[in-house]
Amino acid sequence: MSNTAAWENAVRRVVPYTPGEQPKNQNVIKLNTNENPFPPSPSVEKILREYDTSQLRKYPDTDSVVLVNELAKRYNVDSDNVFVGVGSDDVLSMAFLTFFGSDKPILFPDITYSFYDVWADLYKIPYKTLPLDDNFRIIKEDYNIPNGGIVIPNPNAPTGVYEDPSFFEEILKANPDSIVIVDEAYIDFGGLSCIPLTKKYPNLLVVQTFSKSRNLAGLRIGYAIGDKKLIKYMNDVKFSVNSYTMNPLSQLCGAAAVADEEYFQKNLAEIIRVREYSKERLLALGFTFTDSKSNFLFAKHNTKDAGEIFSELKEKGIYVRYWNKARIKDYLRITIGTQEEMDKLFSALEAIL
Ligand code: PMP
Repeated sequence: MSNTAAWENAVRRVVPYTPGEQPKNQNVIKLNTNENPFPPSPSVEKILREYDTSQLRKYPDTDSVVLVNELAKRYNVDSDNVFVGVGSDDVLSMAFLTFFGSDKPILFPDITYSFYDVWADLYKIPYKTLPLDDNFRIIKEDYNIPNGGIVIPNPNAPTGVYEDPSFFEEILKANPDSIVIVDEAYIDFGGLSCIPLTKKYPNLLVVQTFSKSRNLAGLRIGYAIGDKKLIKYMNDVKFSVNSYTMNPLSQLCGAAAVADEEYFQKNLAEIIRVREYSKERLLALGFTFTDSKSNFLFAKHNTKDAGEIFSELKEKGIYVRYWNKARIKDYLRITIGTQEEMDKLFSALEAIL
């Protein structure tokens, strides 16, 4: 006799996404979740210090007007072209729920952000993955097949490989009847955004986050920019799930971070500098890697097993990311930290290799 209760047959079973480890020990060097190694803009600290906590008894602004307006100004779009959510995971999840209701499969690369198939399974969206080529490049012609939507990160994760907006324009031209989502979590680290294309292609949704280039992973802020019809449809779904998603502090701090363009640019320049320096150091240690335009490197050692390097680094208190998965099991994804953190990583690697 089965010991499964009848109700269990009705459970929506899912295999959840596995986030990178957030170790309890604060003394580790954390290069495993692509966080920014620097604190957020000082204007964020000022808001938190001066915040009137009595305001917390009230529900937040459901429309996040302060944040939406600041983003609209920064990206030269109207406020009704901006959707905000609790991290870009929330925004992407809402976009999947809103737009991917077709019987045809949605398309995304075989090596990509490992949340896409989780949302597809959760929302019962059929999907088809399309293999990257041997250099981890997306083959855009493969996307010229009947589909229920397309989602691609640019730069791709965890490869870091970037394509120009013209590449996505070709995909958009071939797919006027599908929603195309470009997930630009890492675009600020050296790529050109597809946001300007949203004015030309009403089926394009560009998603970005405050977790990487704006140093605010802890506040959970993400956004999407697209035609106002797309934003309206997304808000209808969002308000059918939970109207009060963004807390007031995230709204205010997010707006302040966007307004501080000088800090943003200075911070990006430093991360890009350390990334290019790290490439040289890794090369000298016998690694090869993709030409990453993100805040991480996707690197493979010429002799030593990636899983072993991962474990030995962890023992030394240095966390990087490793997936024991076909095609990428020889690679480590290493977040760009401060120069000092990276030098500690290279010393540890010298000892291990
Ligand atoms: N997209 C990609 C490609 C990512 O790597 C991440 C980070 N895990 C996200 C979206 C989600 O980031 P967040 O929810 O912190 O905005």
